[in-house]
Amino acid sequence: MHKLTQILKQRVDTTNAAPVVTPIYQNSAFEAHSPFFYTRKNNPNVEELEQVFCALEESAHAVCCSTGMAAISNTLLLLKPGDHLVINQLIYGCSYVLFERFCEQYQIALTVLDLSTQEGILAIPQQVTMVLFETPTNPFVRSIDIAVVAQQAKKHNPSCLIVVDNTWATPLFQQPLLHGADLALYSATKYFSGHSDVMGGVLTTNDANLAQKLRDARFYHGAVMDPNSAWLLRRSMQTFTIRMRAHGQATTQIWDWLASQSGVEEVFYPDVDGQQLTGYATLLFFTLDAKLSERYDEFVAALQLFDTGTGMACVTSMVARPFTGSHASMNEQQKQQMGLTRQLVRLSIGLEEVEDLIADLQQAFDHIGAHDE
Ligand code: PLP
Repeated sequence: MHKLTQILKQRVDTTNAAPVVTPIYQNSAFEAHSPFFYTRKNNPNVEELEQVFCALEESAHAVCCSTGMAAISNTLLLLKPGDHLVINQLIYGCSYVLFERFCEQYQIALTVLDLSTQEGILAIPQQVTMVLFETPTNPFVRSIDIAVVAQQAKKHNPSCLIVVDNTWATPLFQQPLLHGADLALYSATKYFSGHSDVMGGVLTTNDANLAQKLRDARFYHGAVMDPNSAWLLRRSMQTFTIRMRAHGQATTQIWDWLASQSGVEEVFYPDVDGQQLTGYATLLFFTLDAKLSERYDEFVAALQLFDTGTGMACVTSMVARPFTGSHASMNEQQKQQMGLTRQLVRLSIGLEEVEDLIADLQQAFDHIGAHDE
């Protein structure tokens, strides 16, 4: 055999290698007898991660996508012209823009409601085919009762799909499928990754038919997660519950501290009712006192331990201004309707010592004269 042919054909026999961690299957193709076929359809690392999410969500199926937005796009592909999508007004800015553009392009009606109120739920239109919302909401962490929304929408149309973007609560603190949702979706880029180093999206459901449609959409539209990301996420998931509990404890302490600060106008708490939402971590919102709002940028710049930028729900703390960050893609009128002001601050609480984070916030408030009379 020629050297070149030998190089091309060289393989180590790994049949008895027995690694304690699944290696990265960084390949697109599998032999014809393999159940994995082609990585765009299935890959061992992606399948292993999907099994982890099924265990966490207690769901029958999980479908991993390349990003959270890819998971949302895959979900939108379930709709057809003439359908009617209902979304909650408070929602991630990029999702909002995607819904507007997608619905306009494919002649799908779009209704935006405040589903955290009874009036909003009662306004769900008769023709509804899908309701999609985040709870607790971003921003303001308001709760939406999944069971009540599902009941109302399915009264109009029993086959209406209820989709919950559960990125912020995570399945540790909220399991939408147990409350009447057909589909839960996640940006795995946030808590599941936890280290700001990998992107991903996840869809979970108990409906085999729905899971198959989502897998088909992922295959034909090419939205699959890559093996390397799946491997990294699988590793992150080993510390997920420990991280979440630590994030949660620190977040509660900082919330309580913020509520007693004179430079703070309002602190927003989610309703941890122990039924739908059993805990909460990391993302907290507060408004700077109106008389200090001119000094917002100085406050952020004075913080030493909070990184700025779009990352969040990770091991390091972050600070962001939703008005120009997560909701930058919405126009001024939409932001006004949401009650989103320039004074709103979003903190993502990491795993630093909580005393250090509080001391840092304290000195930033002092810096802008929050405690001066
Ligand atoms: N859903 C929510 C609630 C988000 O906050 C985000 C991103 O911030 C997404 C979906 C989109 O996820 P990704 O950035 O992984 O595409």
